[in-house]
Amino acid sequence: MTADRPDSHRLLSAESGGPLLSWYDREKRDLPWRHTSDPYAIWVSEIMLQQTQVSTVIPYWNRWMQRFPTVRSLAEADEQEILAHWQGLGYYRRCRLLQQGARFVVEHGLPTRMSEWLKVPGVGRYTAGAIASIALSEPVPLVDGNVERVYARLAGDDAAGKVLHDAAWKWAELNVYSERPGDWNQALMELGATVCRPNSPNCRECPLSGQCVALSASRVEELPAKVAKTKAVQLRHLVCVPLCGDEVGLRQIPAGQWWEGMWEFPRFEVAPGAESADLQQLVGTGWLESAGAFRHSVTHHRIQVEVSYLSFEEKLDSLRWVRLSDLPEVPMPAPQRKALSMVLEQMGRT
Ligand code: SF4
Repeated sequence: MTADRPDSHRLLSAESGGPLLSWYDREKRDLPWRHTSDPYAIWVSEIMLQQTQVSTVIPYWNRWMQRFPTVRSLAEADEQEILAHWQGLGYYRRCRLLQQGARFVVEHGLPTRMSEWLKVPGVGRYTAGAIASIALSEPVPLVDGNVERVYARLAGDDAAGKVLHDAAWKWAELNVYSERPGDWNQALMELGATVCRPNSPNCRECPLSGQCVALSASRVEELPAKVAKTKAVQLRHLVCVPLCGDEVGLRQIPAGQWWEGMWEFPRFEVAPGAESADLQQLVGTGWLESAGAFRHSVTHHRIQVEVSYLSFEEKLDSLRWVRLSDLPEVPMPAPQRKALSMVLEQMGRT
């Protein structure tokens, strides 16, 4: 590492905690997982917070910790039940990995250091750093999107993508405050989330403004440098809700597909230009009634979801039939629930 490299940028306050920790002690948000030092509870919060907003996570975390209060209770739970508790948070792979991780911990014992947490399935460098520093007070760094942005601006680093990510880790390692590593790391993330925001950062309120290279060079809006976005892929899905009295027909989503293991109404991926007559042919039996359409995004895929329903006199053996009142217990992806509410509204059954 050379002295000129931005990732060697040393915060003046890193030895004492300084203005950043004073600011954090004063301004930090009151979040439920900040009232515990249980590594499992912090682990759950960190996994839920990946790609999900804090306000969305709070009620999920509270319900989860009530139902699965210990790592053993999660390890022993039925997969369908954990998926049902996760539904609506998306990115269901996180949920399955969390349970795999819990089973690993039950078998091998609760890790006591970051290097041991890294061996747990589903726990990457960020999560291991978060659990070890926050729950175990180990002086190790962490970098998420917020810390990366704070670093790029504070140090005036023009790098993007992986180069920026690696530089942010080096910088975080250099600056971790060993007296209160958990609070230090959370303070950096909090600063990125509430002050050094992606758009319109509030530099006037920033406790580190006196040390910020981007601010002094009037380059705040330019940093971090933008990475070329992955081009969006357009898809078209036809969702058919089968109804028979008070029951709806579901099928389990096969392995290898989005939302695998959860339950859905029959869904067909159709060509963007297909006509409605072609779609009717695809479904076969019964006559489709349209209930409208909506758009849904999964990573860089933009899906046009077209919703129809079919009424049956007799239940098809190929589907699992569930009473409408029992559906909340069945793990289903959010767009499937939305499709059902459109159908029920169309039929005047809400
Ligand atoms: S001064 Fe502004 S740009 Fe610099 S770290 Fe603080 S909020 Fe971010």
